[in-house]
Amino acid sequence: MTDNLFTRFSSPALHRNRVFLAPPGRAPVTFAQAFDQAGRFAHVLTAHGAKKGDRVAVQVEKSAENIFLYLACLRAGLVYLPLNTGYTASELSYFIGDAEPAIFVCAPRDWNMLNGIFQGTVLTLGDDGASGSLLAEAAGQSPDFADAVLGEDDLASILYTSGTTGVSKGAMLTHGNLWSNADVLRQAWRFTHDDVLLHALPIFHIHGLFVATNICLAARASIILLPKFDIEEIFRSLPAATVMMGVPTFYVRLLQDPRLNHERAGHMRLFVSGSAPLLAETHREWSARTGQAILERYGMTETNMNTSNPYDGARKPGSVGLPLPGTSLRIADDEGKPLPQGEIGMIEVKGPNVFAGYWRMPEKTAAEFRADGFFITGDLGMIDEDGYVHIVGRAKDLIISGGFNVYPKEIESLIDELPGVTESAVIGLPHKDFGEGVTAVVVLNKDAALTQADIQSALKDRLAKFKQPKAVLFTDQFPRNALGKVQKNLLRQTYKDLYA
Ligand code: AMP
Repeated sequence: MTDNLFTRFSSPALHRNRVFLAPPGRAPVTFAQAFDQAGRFAHVLTAHGAKKGDRVAVQVEKSAENIFLYLACLRAGLVYLPLNTGYTASELSYFIGDAEPAIFVCAPRDWNMLNGIFQGTVLTLGDDGASGSLLAEAAGQSPDFADAVLGEDDLASILYTSGTTGVSKGAMLTHGNLWSNADVLRQAWRFTHDDVLLHALPIFHIHGLFVATNICLAARASIILLPKFDIEEIFRSLPAATVMMGVPTFYVRLLQDPRLNHERAGHMRLFVSGSAPLLAETHREWSARTGQAILERYGMTETNMNTSNPYDGARKPGSVGLPLPGTSLRIADDEGKPLPQGEIGMIEVKGPNVFAGYWRMPEKTAAEFRADGFFITGDLGMIDEDGYVHIVGRAKDLIISGGFNVYPKEIESLIDELPGVTESAVIGLPHKDFGEGVTAVVVLNKDAALTQADIQSALKDRLAKFKQPKAVLFTDQFPRNALGKVQKNLLRQTYKDLYA
C-alpha cells in the first residue's frame, strides 16, 4: 500500500471517463486522459534524471497541462514547486538558490533568461498549454507509469511564503497533509462527482491548487478552468457550474455588476470565500442579491484549511467558522497557554493538515511550533460563544492585496536603498477592489526631490506587480513608540480613506 496522493486520487475506477477539466475554447479532458498525460510527463521528468524528493520548479501560466504536470510530480514522487508568474529574474534566483530544483519548467519566452540563472534542466510549456518542449518530449512516451511508492510524510510540494523579515520560506507539504485536507473538505462541503467547480483562481497558491483542485480530484468533480478571473467569463460559465471558490475580491467585483441576481446565481450549490477577510457587509449584500450565503473558510499555506463555516447551519458573516474535523485550534497567550473563550489571542493549530516545516530552516520551523506540536499561525483571533472563530488582525505585518500576501519589509528594503530616501514604511490601506492596497509612506532626505513616479518606476522591474505600491505618500517623519518602532497602526489610521 502507498500513501502517494496520486494513487489515492486515481485508484477508484469510477467516473474515469467523466470530464475532469473543461477549459473554455478547447476540448474537455477526462480524468483518464489527464492521468495518462501525467504518466507521459512523469516519464519525461524522470528521463531527465529527476529522482524521488527532487524539486520541480514551475513558473508557467494556468492551464490543464500545468495541472497534469502537478499530477506527474505526484506520480514520480517529485516535489512540485509552483512560482507566482509575476516573479522577476532576481526573485527567481533566490528560489533557485534555496530550493535547488532539478528541473525548471518555464514559458518558452523565458528559456534564455532561465538558462542564464539555472544550471539544471529547463523545460518549457506555453501559456495555452499547447506548446513547449515538455509536450514535445511527452509525445512519444507511454501513458503507463509505475507510481512511486510513498509514505504520508513524503513531500508533495513546496510553496514559498514570505516572512516578516522579507525572506521567503518554503513551506513543505506532504502527501499526508494534502490528502487529509482534500478528504475533510470534500466531506465538509459535500462534493460529489456531480459537481462542477468554477475555477478562476491562480494555481501557484494553496487556494487554487490544493483546495480547489484536490477536492475535485478526490470527489471526481469537474472543473471549469478559467485562465483568470474575468467577469464576462464568470457570467458565461455560471449556468453550468454548481460551486465557485474565490477570494473576497471576486465577490466584491461581482457585486458591482448589475447582472448579479437570484436568477443567475440561485442554481448554485455553494459559494466559498477565503485567503483574506470577507467583509460582513459583502456577505450580507451577497445573500440579499443572490439568496446564497457565502461559506467563508480560513487557512494558510503552512496549514491548509483550518476552519470553515458549516454547510448546514449558520454561516456567520465576519466569522471563519468552526475548526474542521481532525484540526485542533486554540486561542493562546504569548506562551501558548490557552485563553478563556471570548478573549483575543494568537490562533494556534494542530492536525494532519499542518505542514512538515520550512525547507532547510530548522530554527525558523522550531520557533513557530509549541512544544506540544501546535503551530503558531501569526493570526490573532477569538472564539465566540457558539464556538465560531473570528480573525481580528494579523500579528505579522502582512498585507493581503487581491488575495496575495505582500510583506512590507521586502518592499521597504528596496525603497530604502534608493538615493534620496531616508526611510520608508509600507502599509495596507482599505481598498474596495483589492481588499488592501499596498501603500508606501516615505521620508526623504533634505533637499531630495523624488516623486511617486520616480519610486514606482524604480521598483517596476524588481517586484512582482501585486507587490508594487499603488500609491507613494511623503511625510516629514514617522510616528514612533517609546522603543522607536514606527507605529504603522497610526499611519494606517491617517491615510485610511486614500482609496475610498
Ligand atoms: P496564505 O498563506 O497566502 O494562504 O495566507 C494566509 C493568511 O491569509 C492567513 O494567515 C490569514 O492571515 C489570511 N486569511 C486566510 N483566510 C482568511 C479569512 N477567511 N479571513 C481572514 N484572513 C484570512
